[in-house]
Amino acid sequence: HQAQLVQHEKLAGIGRLAAGVAHEINNPLGVILGYVRLLQRKAEGALAEDLKVVEEEAVRCQDIVEGLLDLSRPGRGPRERVPLREACEEVVARLRESSRLGDVEVRVEGDASAWAWPPRLRQVLLNLVKNAAEAAGQGGTVALVIGAAPDGGASVAVSDSGPGVKAEDLPRLFEPFFTTKPSGTGLGLAVSQAIAEAHGGRIETDTGPLGGARFTLRLPPASPAQEAMA
Ligand code: ADP
Ligand code: MG
Repeated sequence: HQAQLVQHEKLAGIGRLAAGVAHEINNPLGVILGYVRLLQRKAEGALAEDLKVVEEEAVRCQDIVEGLLDLSRPGRGPRERVPLREACEEVVARLRESSRLGDVEVRVEGDASAWAWPPRLRQVLLNLVKNAAEAAGQGGTVALVIGAAPDGGASVAVSDSGPGVKAEDLPRLFEPFFTTKPSGTGLGLAVSQAIAEAHGGRIETDTGPLGGARFTLRLPPASPAQEAMA
């Protein structure tokens, strides 16, 4: 028990340190990106291509920094009733606009509402749909199925037509920095699980109806006291 407490304190300490470092790196990183984009406008040919690489890698650093900050504060925000259908459609539309979905077909089914901090809930949905679309690949399909639980909780299951998760990767999926992608950050699922847990929920993994993976976010109902105070 004592060892567990020590371990817990240690992890919390590391988390605070990581968050501190991330916070400090954020500003200089923003300046670097600003200047690179400025230079890109003046550059041509090979130089322009090199600057593109610098920009991409700086954006990657920003993603990591943002992920670390999210890991350190996954759930401290005001809860409200969130219509899930609307949230899912918004997330899909946002990914579509930034052309992160390619020609992947995305379907949204069902409806329910959840008790959550809206921006964080959307972030979980975004991470799961992004992963699903990346796994499905060109010409693939992604389905979001929203469900209401009998106890008043809600769920969103995101499944894809991709290759699924390899058995050997399964135990490591939610570890920070675990990635099988050449330029992944490995933070999407770690952050999403932290957010789900901060809401009293969880994310489950199995094989879905489209042949690939299925990631299901499950959220508990609000207590009557919570709803009354909102
Ligand atoms: P990243 O997307 O940056 O790799 P994530 O934390 O989002 O990091 O995902 C971690 C890993 O989990 C991925 O690299 C991939 O191996 C696996 N994974 C996540 N979603 C899926 C999916 N829908 N199908 C197959 N593998 C997946
Ligand atoms: Mg991801």
